[in-house]
Amino acid sequence: MEQVAKNIDRLVTVAAGMGYHPDRWIVPALYEGAAEKLGGKPISLVATQRIIEQVKEGNSVVLVDQFGYLPNMPYGETDGPLGVASLARAVRFGLKALPVLVTGPKDINVARQTTQAAGLNVLQYGEAKEIKTACAGEITFPVVDEGESAKVAAKILDECTPKAVISVETIGPNKKGVKHSFSGFDAGAKDKLPGLEHLFYEASARGILTIGVIDRGNELGSGTIEETVREITPYADVCQCPCKAGSACAVKTDIVFPASISNWGAYAISAMMGYLLKKPEILQNEETEWRMLDASIKAGAIDGIVAQPVMCVDGLGVKAHQGLITLLHTIVKNALSGT
Ligand SMILES: [Zn+2]
Repeated sequence: MEQVAKNIDRLVTVAAGMGYHPDRWIVPALYEGAAEKLGGKPISLVATQRIIEQVKEGNSVVLVDQFGYLPNMPYGETDGPLGVASLARAVRFGLKALPVLVTGPKDINVARQTTQAAGLNVLQYGEAKEIKTACAGEITFPVVDEGESAKVAAKILDECTPKAVISVETIGPNKKGVKHSFSGFDAGAKDKLPGLEHLFYEASARGILTIGVIDRGNELGSGTIEETVREITPYADVCQCPCKAGSACAVKTDIVFPASISNWGAYAISAMMGYLLKKPEILQNEETEWRMLDASIKAGAIDGIVAQPVMCVDGLGVKAHQGLITLLHTIVKNALSGT
């Protein structure tokens, strides 16, 4: 079991072809720091086991992503929504629980369309909780001040009573409360981005399982390994904005999962879920991966590196992501067959 997870984790932490972004090589070191926090166990295994322990049939799981802000990425990026859509499948098809997509007004349509392309209908939370078939709920988190954001977060957790709150590539505040872009600039987010971090503060206070999937260190969950992030990630310790406190996000989660591309960390959890529950079809197949990416860009997401609405995630074309899906399925299938 541990060997399967180790191979999955090695696969999703490979820095594939991002030579023009050499600092992407930071991910294996971030992964090591994060695995150390779990006693050296493979992160996909621990994360998936904890989710399976906590989430029972009929429960709900809050899934968060968010990177949409003006002027850079008006409707967010392609890294994040596909990971959330994959986890929505895992929650619904694996655990018979209700995935609830929670993100800001700029990102919600991308999350919705991508999840629909992954094979789930998406309805307002109130409607979705009544439905037994393949569906997910959605809740839009408004852009309001800190105090109001805390209230909104508490209300969402009161309503959904989730057993886990999981983030995939959600921009998060540093120790001074500033949210940074990956190149260490102030995202200018103060009055533009919803305070999704409050969902994690509130979930932690209530003892609800929290997981953050990251690929750099400026995303929710990175605070769990903040020292490592500050040491390794460019601009994490000293940023390029006047705050000078670094881009390292200070928000902690029970488990942080650094992957080469955040979507891949989410896929690793879906693959492990397929393995542990002996239902490999939980992880989307290659055709579905294509449809998910197509849907996300049609809804307005852009590639975070190429900065265009094209069939890429973090600079890698769709075939690379489909190939990753093929390899994940191969690892799981062969492990289950025992040959
Ligand atoms: Zn700064």
